[in-house]
Amino acid sequence: MNALRQALQDWYKVRQRDLPWRHTQDPYFIWLSEIILQQTRVDQGLPYYLKFTAAFPTVKDLANASQQEVLNLWQGLGYYSRGRNLHATAQQITRDFNGVFPDSHEGLLKLKGVGPYTAAAIASFAYNLPHAVVDGNVFRVLSRYFGVDLAINSPEGKRQFEALAGELLDRYNPALHNQAIMEFGALQCKPVSPNCAVCPVQESCMALLSNKVAQLPIKLKKVKVRKRFFVYHILANAQNQLAFQRRAPKDIWEGLFEFPLVEFDNSEDMHAYLEDKLVIGAKFQHVLTHQRIEAYFIKTSMKDSAKANYLMLDLMALEDHPIPRLIDKFLIAHSSELF
Ligand code: SF4
Repeated sequence: MNALRQALQDWYKVRQRDLPWRHTQDPYFIWLSEIILQQTRVDQGLPYYLKFTAAFPTVKDLANASQQEVLNLWQGLGYYSRGRNLHATAQQITRDFNGVFPDSHEGLLKLKGVGPYTAAAIASFAYNLPHAVVDGNVFRVLSRYFGVDLAINSPEGKRQFEALAGELLDRYNPALHNQAIMEFGALQCKPVSPNCAVCPVQESCMALLSNKVAQLPIKLKKVKVRKRFFVYHILANAQNQLAFQRRAPKDIWEGLFEFPLVEFDNSEDMHAYLEDKLVIGAKFQHVLTHQRIEAYFIKTSMKDSAKANYLMLDLMALEDHPIPRLIDKFLIAHSSELF
């Protein structure tokens, strides 16, 4: 711990970039730089920081500007909601805090758009309070140096990395420490091709010693859940048989039997279709690993010619035909309403 802490600060004193927000302890300027640099590279954000501080030297100046003026300056940074939020927060500070930034981590968290990371950054850089920042750079340095293979975006991983960052924090020099570890992650222990060959902590870095630099940190891939909207048609004939079709290959429930189906891309289209139909029961929700299905079952009639396309089965015969769990749930709940 001590060795890493010292090495980070020594490295930072020599290698740090000269950036204007590092020469100030004014919480307004620090907040401004943090908001501008969210989702933005330093070289891209720097001119915006200079424009904003020149146009609005105090938080009250920013609050009193029109939204149009703020957005005009913001132009080119993208994410206009961030520009609008910046303006709204300046107004909140002017209105509710008399233009003075809160001087505690807790107080800073009350500001719109300020989460734990930004609050820790302002608390340490402006007030030298002992709060560890934990951003992507910090996750990476900690994961590699200590060889922690917990996913940085899992709740357990986040907890452990936050605890580790808190332990590592230099409580006597939190501002310097936080700047140092973030800069080290940005320039030295980079996501791709970190400079391990000339790294001051190469002899104690677990990732390097165990040849896992490229694998760490671990991030869980977010599985995208596909939403699907099904309307099933209950078609009965005079013999109390219902129409079924077999599901095609390359989709869920391949080869299983289901009622005639119309699938929609979105909920609005499905509800427009349902408007004048006779719906049996309420909405059914069915959750699969990568899909979430919303389904309705409607009673409908059809021309005799259409029946030829379907397999007509009574409920007894259905027992010999595999059906999806969703259809089974529906039949258990509503078998008395089918005919
Ligand atoms: S040795 Fe490489 S992986 Fe380890 S801290 Fe240094 S730059 Fe990062």
